[in-house]
Amino acid sequence: MNRHIAIYPGSFDPFTNGHMDIVRRGLEIFDTIIIAAAKNSEKNSLFSVAERVAMIRELVADNPRVKVETFDGLLVDYVVSKEARVILRGLRAVTDFEFEFQLAQMNHIVCEQVETLFMMTSPACAYLSSSIVKEVGRLNGDISSFVPPLVADRLHEKFRQQEP
Ligand code: ADP
Repeated sequence: MNRHIAIYPGSFDPFTNGHMDIVRRGLEIFDTIIIAAAKNSEKNSLFSVAERVAMIRELVADNPRVKVETFDGLLVDYVVSKEARVILRGLRAVTDFEFEFQLAQMNHIVCEQVETLFMMTSPACAYLSSSIVKEVGRLNGDISSFVPPLVADRLHEKFRQQEP
């Protein structure tokens, strides 16, 4: 078991400055972070999992300590397959707590050696979620302070394609 790797799972549809903040701070604690985009989040997503992974890879390309992958099926199985034992998650408001609490408990019951570690959001990112970014972007609002420029470009492109 590798104690220096953290798996950071999520939908990342799309990756926001809030996600980046967790990765940046996580790297202060862990040697390697594997950002793992869930394949099963494909159904209601704006970007395909391949598009999301390609975007995130571009964003972290200059940091060899960050890897980007996809996973399917049970998260704990994926974590164990990477010989890791830590799942890294971010917490924003109290509203995140209930869901994250359930998920962490379940994962720990399914696989005792896997622990979930939570990092509190930075105040600057507390209101930020992928869904709010999509909502504002869809309505042509300014999303430049919520996502990296690359993601803003891809979002605008996606919404242009969707126009009738
Ligand atoms: P999921 O669909 O699994 O919740 P998300 O892509 O929405 O995946 O988020 C992945 C993780 O990042 C979650 O733990 C979520 O709470 C966290 N996260 C998302 N946005 C922020 C933010 N602004 N600040 C801190 N953590 C965040």
